[in-house]
Amino acid sequence: MEKQIKKCRKCLKLLPTNEKGEVMIKGDLCPDCLRELKMNAAIDWDERKREFENIIEDIRGKHTFDGLVMLSGGKDSVYVAYLLSKIYKLNIVAITIDNGFEYDGTFENSSRLAKKLGISHMIYRLPIEVMKKYYRFFLTEESVKLKDCSQICFFCGRLLKCISIKMAKQLDVAAVFSGHTVEQVRALGDEKGKDSSYAIRQKYIQTYTERNYEKVIKILEEQNEKELIELLKDNISINRFENFIYPLQYFEYKPIEIAELLKKEVGWEADTHFTGKYISSGCKLAKIMEYVAYKNNTDTYVEREFSDQIRRGSLTVEEVQEIMNSRIEVSEERKEIMEQLSVTDDDLF
Ligand SMILES: [Zn+2]
Repeated sequence: MEKQIKKCRKCLKLLPTNEKGEVMIKGDLCPDCLRELKMNAAIDWDERKREFENIIEDIRGKHTFDGLVMLSGGKDSVYVAYLLSKIYKLNIVAITIDNGFEYDGTFENSSRLAKKLGISHMIYRLPIEVMKKYYRFFLTEESVKLKDCSQICFFCGRLLKCISIKMAKQLDVAAVFSGHTVEQVRALGDEKGKDSSYAIRQKYIQTYTERNYEKVIKILEEQNEKELIELLKDNISINRFENFIYPLQYFEYKPIEIAELLKKEVGWEADTHFTGKYISSGCKLAKIMEYVAYKNNTDTYVEREFSDQIRRGSLTVEEVQEIMNSRIEVSEERKEIMEQLSVTDDDLF
């Protein structure tokens, strides 16, 4: 049967299909665009801001540091660091985690920006050989493989949160802050809201997460992979840390204005691994993820984030199409990364 590939008219996200590949939606807008049409008018941003300020005042001045910011150097995390240190005058410290697959510029860049903001900054480097094993496992273990390869980010994202929370506890920091956008927070299952649908969704993602961890740890126990078990074993319980705050949820997200402000205030510049304008994850593993998803005829969450960018006005449809067309061609770098991880095509598919 001919496979239908239909994209949202507004943001280019693939429209949901059933098992036969038939589009399940009437019309040509994706659920996110429809949702936004309905929701945006309903959000009282002044109230959200007051909510955020209450949280801030609750933590201020009670610990050695008020906040630890996960700083990647991208505009979102830099904006969070800026907001907390310059606007709300909190005493903060920033952490940049090296998973072994970040572009070199990430660390210089985040150090430079932390210095500009006048805040303490540390780089936490994970042991490279263990991390290679870690990613190799999640790329090649049949029972965790997903078509869009998002299992990598699913586990890694929780590990990075876990490291930041542990560090915050050691340094006596009241809360951890990250620059996740609303869409990313939703995907993590951490979005909070007034009606019960949020709680139901959260519960669903938590259950899914717990099952996945149990499954993976069991496999690793059978393989006697002690180092990997060590990395994974307490991720879920530590991720339950209450004072993990996503500030971008409390403000209407305007990425172009954020970028302009940061250029002016701290000399922030866009990373150019994809385009001069869009700043994506600085992680090289995204190249493998993209490759796997492409071969499996699906999109990655990075592409779905492009759709979010279109919806928010930071990229045009034409710009995204241009980026997507140019992405698969950059394969040399992907091959190098696969070699580093000793992963072949046969392992991936
Ligand atoms: Zn859409």
